[in-house]
Amino acid sequence: MLEGLSTEEIVERGKNVVMNTYGRLPMTIVKGEGAWVWNPEGKQYLDFVTGLAVNSLGHSHPAIVRAIQEQAKELLHTSNIYWIANQVALAERLVEHSFADKVFFCNSGAEANEAAFKLARKYAKKNFGAHKYEVVALENSFHGRTLATLTLTGQTKYQDGFDPLPVGFSYAALNNIEDLRSKVNQNTAAVFIEPIQGEGGVIPASNEFLQEARALCDQYGALLIFDEVQCGVGRTGKLFAYEWSGVVPDIMTLAKALAGGVPIGAMLAKDEVAMAFQPGDHASTFGGNPLATAAGCAVLDVMLEDGFFAGVQERAAYFQKGLEQLAQKYQTGDPVRGKGFILGWPVSKLGPEIVGACLQSGLLINCVGGKILRFLPPLIVEKPEIDKALGILDEVFRKLWK
Ligand SMILES: *Cc1c(COP(=O)(O)O)cnc(C)c1O
Repeated sequence: MLEGLSTEEIVERGKNVVMNTYGRLPMTIVKGEGAWVWNPEGKQYLDFVTGLAVNSLGHSHPAIVRAIQEQAKELLHTSNIYWIANQVALAERLVEHSFADKVFFCNSGAEANEAAFKLARKYAKKNFGAHKYEVVALENSFHGRTLATLTLTGQTKYQDGFDPLPVGFSYAALNNIEDLRSKVNQNTAAVFIEPIQGEGGVIPASNEFLQEARALCDQYGALLIFDEVQCGVGRTGKLFAYEWSGVVPDIMTLAKALAGGVPIGAMLAKDEVAMAFQPGDHASTFGGNPLATAAGCAVLDVMLEDGFFAGVQERAAYFQKGLEQLAQKYQTGDPVRGKGFILGWPVSKLGPEIVGACLQSGLLINCVGGKILRFLPPLIVEKPEIDKALGILDEVFRKLWK
């Protein structure tokens, strides 16, 4: 499979045959271990992107590798017309460690949100009537690229050119309680919230806002749906981001990190809500297949080991403090924000240049909206690696920042 090709050759051949849907960097990664990745030329990078919050246990984690290898030898795929033992095992882990009673498996974040959206509509119609189908999402949110999920996404740049869009959506401003109150009413089937907006620039929802959303949903019989596709599965230093706020949703969606790099999505709900789905209402050919759910079980078993999250929280606080010191030193403006290992550093200018200079110096970071540096290091990153990343950032700012 194209072994031995250089970065340049892979990029050139890719441009010929791969659809032009990403503004890709002229870069390719062919190997990874822990917090490190390598390109075909053998150049080494510290990975603080982790495939956008996917490789949360780092690259080639032995527990995940073992689970995949062993499962591949036994069985890759059956169908959801049969019971799948690994899927049951992963659902049991998720149910045991969350508010939820039932899990639906699919293959991506968009699909998980699509499933949540369908379940919410079904539930609302069944329990309240045909008028109750509207969904309130948030401005600046991100929920995926299918037609329903890009309509949920409160950013017109993702929607332009794809209309007519599905109807029944409105948008409230994040952390604006008055605005949210004005949008939720008896026709509302669901309110969709990312506890921390990821693509929108690492913006946490305030506890007061989440509490108010919960109260409004209770008042009007609407479902509160948390999209934890990016901020869930350990990213914030707890298994789920909602645990920090104490506000419990009715439905939660997961994907990115859940199987450590194998495609997976999941939609979790309380029993009373999950019951709105009957056989035939929703499905996914690959959803929760033996391979993906073997990897998912391996990921959760590592994260649920005693002391894992204490270590994550400690190292994440250390990293955040380092970033705050740099933001202070270079007077970059707005404070560093986020939780655990999903951190955003607003820089207001030079975002792409900083990302490019870090790349040159062997550090992969990402920038959202052109002006917020986003850091998604693996949860297993060690202090010397964090020091190395902070050192590279310091050097890059010393050269670029004026
Ligand atoms: C990435 C992301 C999605 C979409 O996930 P895909 O797997 O790309 O479909 C949805 N919601 C949030 C919050 C995300 O970060």
